[in-house]
Amino acid sequence: MALKCPECGQVAYTRTSSYEAPSVKRTWYQCRNLDCSCTFTALESVEKIIMKPHKSVAAEPEPRSDVPVLQPQTLGRYGSAYTHKDRHAQP
Ligand SMILES: [Zn+2]
Repeated sequence: MALKCPECGQVAYTRTSSYEAPSVKRTWYQCRNLDCSCTFTALESVEKIIMKPHKSVAAEPEPRSDVPVLQPQTLGRYGSAYTHKDRHAQP
């Protein structure tokens, strides 16, 4: 990411950056104009989450109490579980 120099308006390059907080990043910039060479820092932070990923629903379904996780699943068990889940989805 590039930012304009506050002194001369030319593009400044990122020198280094570090996180102040999990959602706040401080970046050190140096102006690429050799006559200016201004060095400054900027803070970048998460402003708003537009849409959260639905990881908990898609990737990690709720563990079923009647089906132990460590139990080996045969094709027959998988089929019955799928039918049961399908029936459960429709009230
Ligand atoms: Zn500058």
